[in-house]
Amino acid sequence: MFALVLLSASAFATQQAAPVAIAIHGGAGTLKAADLTDDLKAAYLSKMTDALRTGHDILRSGGASVDAVVATVEVLEQSPLFNAGIGAVMTFEGKHELDASLMSGADLQAGAVSGVTTVGSPIRLAHTVMLQSPHVMLAGPGAEGFARSIGMPAVDNTSFTTPRRAEQLQRVKERINARISARTDLEQRVPPHKWGTVGAVALDRDGNLAAATSTGGMTAKRWGRVGDSPIIGAGTFADNRSCAVSATGHGEYFIRFNVAADICARVRYRQATIGEAAQQVLFDELLPVGGTGGVIVINPRGDIVMPFNTPGMYRGAIDTDGNLQLGIFKQSEEQ
Ligand code: ASP
Repeated sequence: MFALVLLSASAFATQQAAPVAIAIHGGAGTLKAADLTDDLKAAYLSKMTDALRTGHDILRSGGASVDAVVATVEVLEQSPLFNAGIGAVMTFEGKHELDASLMSGADLQAGAVSGVTTVGSPIRLAHTVMLQSPHVMLAGPGAEGFARSIGMPAVDNTSFTTPRRAEQLQRVKERINARISARTDLEQRVPPHKWGTVGAVALDRDGNLAAATSTGGMTAKRWGRVGDSPIIGAGTFADNRSCAVSATGHGEYFIRFNVAADICARVRYRQATIGEAAQQVLFDELLPVGGTGGVIVINPRGDIVMPFNTPGMYRGAIDTDGNLQLGIFKQSEEQ
């Protein structure tokens, strides 16, 4: 009888595939629901669905969470809708300087690139930095050199430009120039926030977590500015002992508050749930000092939370039951 029970328990275990889950964001910001046309909204929701399905298919067929988040982020990088790869925001000089990072929660391996200008998929390059270099983070011309050395072709920097980003830069520059002439120090410290950084977090069948983030940074950034997105611990973090996080928001705050790592530390050392930890960091730590943005977080059970302290955040998930959900504004404002 005992043997029979054991047998059926193990038969059950082999039939029940371990859960997989994935979440994405496409940036947090201040757009109002009324400003988003139906067409544009449909385009965002459709591209987010493509990205989620790309990663989920990899996970469902037993692929690794690292591969799933890279493939998912790459779909978003190739879409002009988001601030990453094609459609990335422009620097003050009218160029694109792209940042990306990823982390594997199983072994705490990580890869990152910063300020790359001719790399078609910064997240692929960050992945290759993790796999094929002895380093974690490569920047600027060195990162480009590494890309060429592994056979990644150079793409023209203008291939990332979209009319929307060029107009955005023009508007922001006009505001910056007005501010400079008015010399209002306070305003100078508050760069205008734009939507569109992309990220993904995932749990695979082996119970491994991963996180990835890719961005063009902030419109009209200058002097080689680097945000939180390529910084492990700030914009991206994954550790199987706690959670995986990808962040979006005003990078200067996310760097100083070490946001992604702090959320996971609260889970690991204080036994906070991912919901509590993310809420505490976004609302109790960041918001009082003016730090705006959001995060997507997943834990080893496949629970997902996607909180933000801005009016909205493009976000979506496929949970452990296979249910897909998408959102842009606060739940109460979604139609
Ligand atoms: N966190 C990004 C940065 O500061 C921007 C964003 O998420 O919108 O570069």
